[in-house]
Amino acid sequence: MDKKPMSIADNLKDIRTRIRNAALASGRAPDSVKLVAVSKTKPAEAVAEAAQAGQRIFGENYVQELTDKAALVSEPVEWHFIGTLQSNKVKYTAGLVTMIHSVDRFSLAREIDRQWGRLGSICSVLIQVNVSGEQTKAGTTVTEAVQLVRDIAQLPNLRIRGLMTMPPFFDEPERARPYFRELRELAGAIAMEKIANVEMKELSMGMSGDFEVAIEEGATLVRVGSSIFGYR
Ligand SMILES: *Cc1c(COP(=O)(O)O)cnc(C)c1O
Repeated sequence: MDKKPMSIADNLKDIRTRIRNAALASGRAPDSVKLVAVSKTKPAEAVAEAAQAGQRIFGENYVQELTDKAALVSEPVEWHFIGTLQSNKVKYTAGLVTMIHSVDRFSLAREIDRQWGRLGSICSVLIQVNVSGEQTKAGTTVTEAVQLVRDIAQLPNLRIRGLMTMPPFFDEPERARPYFRELRELAGAIAMEKIANVEMKELSMGMSGDFEVAIEEGATLVRVGSSIFGYR
């Protein structure tokens, strides 16, 4: 007999249980970890279905896709931008997204500051750090991160809430652990600097294959796509 395929609601329930268990196993409060459901390449109907199952935060990687999709979703959702962002596209995200996880250069931050300033509001951002140093990955380097945070902290219309990283891809999630740990240690070192206007409360790390390890290393935002919406 065929098994009924898992629905988005079933997948969400499973992921929430796993998040909770990983938090408890590492002595953390389950509500200290938020789930960002990564809906890139998936239709608005999939977002609506997840929202009806109680999911609130959705992560998107492409500006055009985000704006098209957001216009079609009537449920009360929050959008986070998690992909590579070109400065000339920032204006389309202003007022639409509540957090940008992928700020890795001053010029991008300056444009976010300008666009949110026009709206009279403040954008929450994370600094993306390329912990592994892989050439193909976005993100500032570990050594340049503190200075970048200092520079961006001068901008009035955005607030740095923490750091984000994407480790190299491994089949074995345990191998991603040192990169997650290094991001947490870097956040701790930046917090010690007590830079005005800067919080190091959020660590955005962990995806479908490795979010439990990321939670054990302190993730507060996990970005999970394919385990909720299926393969892309
Ligand atoms: C696609 C993507 C994810 C989700 O990846 P899955 O393996 O599908 O869970 C998380 N973060 C970023 C930045 C992504 O681009």
